[in-house]
Amino acid sequence: MQPTEQAFIDHLAWTSDHPLNLSVQHASGSFIHLSDGKTLIDLISGIAVSSLGHRHPAVIQAIKDQLDKHLHVMVYGEFVQDAQASFAKALADVLPGMLNSVYFTMTGTEANEGALKVAKKATGRSRMVSFTNSYHGDTHGSLSVTGRNVYRDPFLPLLPDVEFLPFGDLDALAAIDDSVACVITEPIQGEGGIVVPSVKWHQALRNRCTETGALLIFDEIQTGFGRTGKLFACEQFDVVPDIITLAKAMGGGMPLGAFVASREIMGTLRSDPPLSHVTTFGGHPVSCAAAGAALKVLIENDLPARASHIESVVRKRLVHPSILEIRGMGAMLGMNLDSPETTQKVADYCLDNGVLLGWTLHSNTLIRIAPPLNISASVLNDAIDVILKALE
Ligand code: PLP
Repeated sequence: MQPTEQAFIDHLAWTSDHPLNLSVQHASGSFIHLSDGKTLIDLISGIAVSSLGHRHPAVIQAIKDQLDKHLHVMVYGEFVQDAQASFAKALADVLPGMLNSVYFTMTGTEANEGALKVAKKATGRSRMVSFTNSYHGDTHGSLSVTGRNVYRDPFLPLLPDVEFLPFGDLDALAAIDDSVACVITEPIQGEGGIVVPSVKWHQALRNRCTETGALLIFDEIQTGFGRTGKLFACEQFDVVPDIITLAKAMGGGMPLGAFVASREIMGTLRSDPPLSHVTTFGGHPVSCAAAGAALKVLIENDLPARASHIESVVRKRLVHPSILEIRGMGAMLGMNLDSPETTQKVADYCLDNGVLLGWTLHSNTLIRIAPPLNISASVLNDAIDVILKALE
């Protein structure tokens, strides 16, 4: 065993008793190369992060350029830092509606924490609504609005005043009233098993929030940046949220999150008291430089359209009696199999034969397929061949 493998066992805190325990040597494009000489086709992109593949040259160049300028110089929100300000503008330019005031964080869960806080501050209300089977992150606030008791129970008490409604249920939306500060939802549930609600539900949710003055938060941490076939999934449903949260693919492989709203909503964090929401590392200049380059590549190469193409290839080719359903949109797909045993068998076979697939937190019969959006047709087809062989 290599010394680093021993160190992983001895000194890194594990998140389960069965980590994948793969030793990475380097990663490039749609491939992860392991220390034992094996190469994996990456069909999960670090859970919807590496949408441009690993180490995209434009992202690497932007990081190198920023390294030559400066790293951290001051806590977030005080200094004008080129990379940060330019990327905030680039984001505002591509986000719909009045989503034009950006607060940068490091991670997705921090973005949701900020969104919940600003919703309370802007409305003066405290009640929050979320949905069953949702996932919004693992810090206390985000966990409080995560709709799975098995993950919440060990950490109770969490935030009070949170109500969970059935996801996608039109009638349940009547529970949203004028005591609600915010309604937080993923436009498409990721960890919940890649669940796509109807356009009708999304629009009714938007209308109900508008009627009651509850702020609608879309957690696009997983769905954002082209993954579903549009730059942001809210565009799939023709809905503009009041607050959007972003992370994962945004940083092009670097850690970066954000919550974004109108200047009016965001302005409530500036006073009473000032500095009521601060962060040291949020919007790190190297991450923002990487994100600026990543967004440019995404748009110039129309990678959201590539996501839709990936969906059509997967749906056409992944047909087998053990596959009950392919769910999802674009390159955010879930393959629902006939049993937990088949699911484990397919994942193990694929891993042994050079294809890395994903899982979801809340389902044991779903295999997640979320490749880099620029995966080549031949590599995608090779990976699908392996999945089909696994099913035989
Ligand atoms: N929200 C959604 C929809 C997610 O999928 C995730 C992570 O998987 C998070 C929030 C949390 O993001 P992070 O792990 O960056 O804190």
